[in-house]
Amino acid sequence: MVNSALLCPWESPHYLILSSNVPTLLHYSHIPVIIVALFLGFFIYSKNKSLSSKLLLISILSFSLYVILDSIIWASNKSDLVMFLWSLQILIEPMVFASGLYFVYTFVTNKDVELNKKIFFLLPLVLFVLLIPTDYNLFGMRTISCDANEGPVALYLSYALELFFVLSILVFIIRSYIFEKSEELRKKIIFLGIGIALFLLAFSWGNIMGSFTENWNLSQFGYFGMPVFIGFLAYLIVKFEAFNIKLLGAQALVVSLFVLIGSQLFFIQNNTNRILTGITLALSGVAGWFLIKSSKKLDERKEQLQLMAGKLSQANDQLRTLDNAKTEFISIASHQLRTPLTAIKGFISMLLEGSYGKLIPQQEDVLNKVYSSNERLVNLVEDLLNVSRMESGRMEFKFALWDMDKICQEVIDTFALRAKSCKLDLTYIKPETVLPELLIDGIKVREVISNLVDNAIKYTLEGHGGVKVKLEQLGENIRVTVSDTGIGIPETELPYLFAKFSRGKDISRLNTGGTGLGLFVGKSMIENNGGRIWAESDGQDLGSRFIIELPIQQSEELIKKWG
Ligand code: ADP
Repeated sequence: MVNSALLCPWESPHYLILSSNVPTLLHYSHIPVIIVALFLGFFIYSKNKSLSSKLLLISILSFSLYVILDSIIWASNKSDLVMFLWSLQILIEPMVFASGLYFVYTFVTNKDVELNKKIFFLLPLVLFVLLIPTDYNLFGMRTISCDANEGPVALYLSYALELFFVLSILVFIIRSYIFEKSEELRKKIIFLGIGIALFLLAFSWGNIMGSFTENWNLSQFGYFGMPVFIGFLAYLIVKFEAFNIKLLGAQALVVSLFVLIGSQLFFIQNNTNRILTGITLALSGVAGWFLIKSSKKLDERKEQLQLMAGKLSQANDQLRTLDNAKTEFISIASHQLRTPLTAIKGFISMLLEGSYGKLIPQQEDVLNKVYSSNERLVNLVEDLLNVSRMESGRMEFKFALWDMDKICQEVIDTFALRAKSCKLDLTYIKPETVLPELLIDGIKVREVISNLVDNAIKYTLEGHGGVKVKLEQLGENIRVTVSDTGIGIPETELPYLFAKFSRGKDISRLNTGGTGLGLFVGKSMIENNGGRIWAESDGQDLGSRFIIELPIQQSEELIKKWG
């Protein structure tokens, strides 16, 4: 068919890319591309021996073989060799596509293809292979350009077969993407799909352009699909740990840079450039090594941090469970304590009133002490119950219209006797005009004001001044100020006053009982009424002011919640 002595009309002392016939683009399109592809293919295979990584390697190997044959065809001026390698290329070409399809399927599904599907795809491939040694494939040679004359098998059948495989990949990818539920897998599928489709379509397009325009220079661009595919694969590994490989972005970047710079050494023909590229390669190797080392460290730290965050959240959960159990315990214990305490209170009152006979003054004195100790216990239990209600979100508020003047007057009446016995003046400064009624839980607000007045009396030395309760309207708010001439609050304690179990350092000299819960509960109660509470003091022994502000126009949100 072809005269083996026939030589194409150019001097070709070397094979491969060093031949004078080889276009410069080939330097870039062929060698670096297959070095990178082979590197990644073998790297993945060395780390993961699954079917999909084998198939990827086969696809890359067939592509690389194709590219090497192409280089020889470009370089050689022996027409018989060109003819032989050309038909070998036509044989290998569909293998790249078939193994690509097989790879995509196993990568996405994690299983082998069923036998019937294998036969379905293999049959056209076998028919095609049988037609390769016939005259329908290559029927001659153009010695001027050293190109083969392609018949219908090479021109139409091979491309039809390739497009059939690419189409199958696309259909499979789109179907898998639609039916996949996991967001992460969907992302993986789409990246893989785009990567392989770009690679195979570019490859096919290059060859189709070559076959139909006979401008094989143009077809060289088709090989650039492969590095794009490699990029997508590297991204899949770095981002999603595809093939179960843990690879850092920095590692992938350094290796690809290293290979790209290194591959230039294959075709540089001038010594100065060779030395310069060698130095660049060495420098980028050293810089890359440091980059990888530090990013590995960073990655380790990230992992440790994640581990610790996991442990912390576990510990947090346990703490929350414990805290809930504690709240529950306090709630139950307080409930159980309340009943006997109320009974004790009742009986002491009856004893004091003489229901069980007249008491001598000594007995009366002792019983009064028991009564006030019992009162303290009742208050303590009530505080504990309030805290546990608050913490478990069981504290309920019932909004209604309340007259603040009435509330303040009631509080003053309750404490009048106590203030008198402590030799303190208790004064109520009424508002100048009638104030609007407020939409609040008046019982809770009264409780808070009572607690403030109780504190004011408690923290003022006997016979040292008094307590004032002032009610007024200030803009959009109603303000209640409870001021005293007592021991005052040091500036350093002011920020912590409303915290749980917060008790002042200075109060020991007054020998008062207390839990440090009153203000904590009070703050929450006032806030649930849409208001705010805070304390002011000019310093030690200069008295204190506790201020509550409640809005005249209650917020919609709270009305919805408690209204
Ligand atoms: P308790 O009075 O049971 O200790 P509270 O929550 O009511 O708890 O008050 C917390 C702390 O705030 C008190 O221990 C005290 O140090 C300080 N305090 C509250 N009211 C006054 C006041 N009128 N004058 C000075 N200190 C006060």
